[in-house]
Amino acid sequence: MSDFVALLGTKGGPMIRPGSTMPTASLLSLGGQSVVVDCGLGVARGITNQGMSLKDLSLIFITHLHSDHYLELGPLLHTAWCAGLKTKVEVWGPPGLDAYWHGFLASMAFDIDTRIEDEGRPDLRALVSVHVTTPDAPMVFGGLTVTAIRTLHPPLVDCFAYRFQTTDKAVVFSGDTARLPALDSFAAGADLLIHEAMLAPALPALMKRIGNGDDRLMHHWLRAHTTAEDAAKTAAAAGVKALALHHLIPSDDPAFTETDWQANTQPHFPGPIHIGKDGLRIPL
Ligand SMILES: [Zn+2]
Ligand SMILES: [Zn+2]
Repeated sequence: MSDFVALLGTKGGPMIRPGSTMPTASLLSLGGQSVVVDCGLGVARGITNQGMSLKDLSLIFITHLHSDHYLELGPLLHTAWCAGLKTKVEVWGPPGLDAYWHGFLASMAFDIDTRIEDEGRPDLRALVSVHVTTPDAPMVFGGLTVTAIRTLHPPLVDCFAYRFQTTDKAVVFSGDTARLPALDSFAAGADLLIHEAMLAPALPALMKRIGNGDDRLMHHWLRAHTTAEDAAKTAAAAGVKALALHHLIPSDDPAFTETDWQANTQPHFPGPIHIGKDGLRIPL
């Protein structure tokens, strides 16, 4: 299998509007493993659009417990089960993710029990294990080693950046974060850094379009997220080979196009810069 990262959902935040792109989810194929990173709304459709069967799911990493990163985790696993999943899936993420999963299972108990009884399916509850990500303790899956660090994403404490490493390739996901100096070394030399990004000049108009937040929403963006310019500076400081931007804020303002994203990043990072689009597949 050739190695790639597919950006399945590329907008920041949980809201979708007519014509909008989808919240955060990615598919990484590396070291013989297929890994789903974050499960925002649309992740099941996004994976299948990449030609992967849901019954082949085995490894999922969640960066943090904001809904735009895990709202569809339960539905993804349930749909995979309906699609024929019969092998184990391991899910890694922050403390509290197990409560979400057990709550989801409880909410769907009637359906799950009916399908076991009426269709002879294995018990979904026995197929999925949810683990707590521990920063600085490497997780090893065959030829793939995964490490995590905490990011700067207040008010959340347990938000992780992940590094996926084989003997000859490395891919790093920033998770949601304000400019994080620790990423400079955590992402050092990676083949690809997938970083969240926002265009600061576009934020006032976005506030207006959302319509039901106040100054606290603007304050959240500024203290918990990274500008495109700073994402590019991080990529340069880390010496990565290529940069991809996702979790784009804004994602659907016609006044701001790919040209604006490139103009805000190119002066600060010499390598290729991919501006996220849903379904964009980046070969490694
Ligand atoms: Zn987010
Ligand atoms: Zn977040």
